[in-house]
Amino acid sequence: MTIKTRFAPSPTGHLHVGNIRTALHNWMFAKKQGGVFLLRLDDTDAERSKEEYVTAIREDLAWLGMAPDEEQRQSARFDRYEAQLEKLKASGRVYPAYETAQELDLKRKIQLGRGKPPIYDRAALALADAEMAAFEAQGRKPHWRFKLDHEVPITWTDLIRGDQHFNPALLSDPVIRREDGSWLYILPSAIDDIDMEITHVVRGEDHVANTAVQIQMFRALGAEPPEFAHEALLVGTEGKLSKRLGSLGVSSFRERQIEPQAIIALLARIGTSDPVEPIVAVEPLIATFDFSRFGRAPARFDKEELAQLNQKIVHLLDYDEVQRRLPEDMDAAAWEVIRPNLHDMGNVDQWWQVVTGPVPVAELSPEDREFLSIAHARLEELEASDYLWKSLTDALKDATGRKGKPLFMPLRQALTGLDHGPDMNALLPLIGKAAALARLAKAAA
Ligand code: GLU
Repeated sequence: MTIKTRFAPSPTGHLHVGNIRTALHNWMFAKKQGGVFLLRLDDTDAERSKEEYVTAIREDLAWLGMAPDEEQRQSARFDRYEAQLEKLKASGRVYPAYETAQELDLKRKIQLGRGKPPIYDRAALALADAEMAAFEAQGRKPHWRFKLDHEVPITWTDLIRGDQHFNPALLSDPVIRREDGSWLYILPSAIDDIDMEITHVVRGEDHVANTAVQIQMFRALGAEPPEFAHEALLVGTEGKLSKRLGSLGVSSFRERQIEPQAIIALLARIGTSDPVEPIVAVEPLIATFDFSRFGRAPARFDKEELAQLNQKIVHLLDYDEVQRRLPEDMDAAAWEVIRPNLHDMGNVDQWWQVVTGPVPVAELSPEDREFLSIAHARLEELEASDYLWKSLTDALKDATGRKGKPLFMPLRQALTGLDHGPDMNALLPLIGKAAALARLAKAAA
């Protein structure tokens, strides 16, 4: 059996960090099992679903390196849902109901007032044909409910939450279709999971109650339910699902110069018992991915942790991986020199300017300027080589008796315009002898 997972966003907005995490876990599990990762666009809501979001979802997944193996859209499958609904009507597993939203609300209030759980009372099941005809004559249209089988307890072994039990008599028969003919998410999703041969449904724990009723839907449609893994939700550092997390998506990560590898490395591991580590390649993350490592407590997302992880990841990126984002004439040797100084990829130009110039002219004491004119004279005598820095500083040590900071700092300041930065040994050959002479001359003047 081919393992198949699905990520099923509604294209009514951009992906946020919470659903990126769900997508990632679906993708990783499928990849680990040599399976298929399906993108299912839950676009039954024609008004709120937008093509621009469909495009953005595809682009975001591609940028993160988890392009789907297959794509499906619910809006292309209305005929199928209709046909399956007819089957459920024929087998008595769905029924029409005519209560208005206000009537249902009132019923709930009365139940709550009596200290009872607000479970739908199935009054619609008792309607006589004549009563229904009367409603229709008034122009009322029914909504449709799925009839739970109260005799069959609902159980499943969740890959994260373990054994789950629900008493169907304590659940309301879910509404599956509205008066206006539009579909609620719950039945089309079960129909799709069957037709698309989904083997594992991986989603947030806010769907646990949906799973309970969907398990009966699968069986009512003649299929065995898939496996389920419901992961604990993602929360911010303040411990809640904040609005800010809800708006944090790929575009804001890109603006902040966060690499996709950092997002993947973080979201693969938070909420699990495995440590968050700066892992660039996705294979080791996939190899260690396991639902049994997931905890029941919410996963904490910390932007600061992501920024720090991102920095470590940048320091590990190979030239080949970043080449197209580097200044044109920056070669692999230059990347190696600059890489350990980067906070993120947004700093590359700044450090490349240290190599290519112009650099700010350092303000130095007369003694240091005098020292730099000696440095200029010595450098002129030296051959351009990989050991230029060592040769220069050795010569200056002998000529001036300076050592340590008084020897190195004025040179660094004159050559880079900065008090700190890349290893001068590696940097000086990149700057080159001619440019270095010009910078020393300027600082000495
Ligand atoms: N469109 C649903 C959602 O975004 C899908 C849930 C599921 O994975 O079944 O909540």
